[in-house]
Amino acid sequence: TERTLVLVKPDGVARGLVGEVISRLEAKGLRLVAAELRTLPREVAEQHYGEHRDKPFFPSLVEFITGGPLVALVVEGPRAIEAFRALAGATDPVKAGPGTIRGDLALEVQRNIVHGSDSPESAAREIGLFFPALT
Ligand code: ATP
Repeated sequence: TERTLVLVKPDGVARGLVGEVISRLEAKGLRLVAAELRTLPREVAEQHYGEHRDKPFFPSLVEFITGGPLVALVVEGPRAIEAFRALAGATDPVKAGPGTIRGDLALEVQRNIVHGSDSPESAAREIGLFFPALT
């Protein structure tokens, strides 16, 4: 079994899609280990998205992700990292397939509703950042 960090980003919370996201991952067979609604301090957002620090969209991404409450989840299951990324669909919601969270529910690359860790190393780092008590 494996754990991954999932975020329902502020656009997803504002649009009332928290239940929809949790329903989809639970229906898939993934299990919730932790869940919390919180507004990210800038420092945590900058650490979370540290790999994008030099990208042109970084300031806008930090504004967006700190701009309202998000829901942080730790999700567990066999190949949970890959399983959730498949549920989420491609980063660009216009390219994400129908049946995926982003493909069905989003239109803009920044406001793409969810985040999921992309490797075991990122999952460990991100779970440590959001839920230090779990590590
Ligand atoms: P996440 O890390 O949120 O799961 P991802 O791994 O699919 O998304 P990344 O390439 O790591 O995608 O980008 C992180 C986030 O930055 C994206 O989810 C999106 O919100 C935002 N982003 C990525 N590319 C752009 C862009 N060109 N313009 C604006 N925002 C972007």
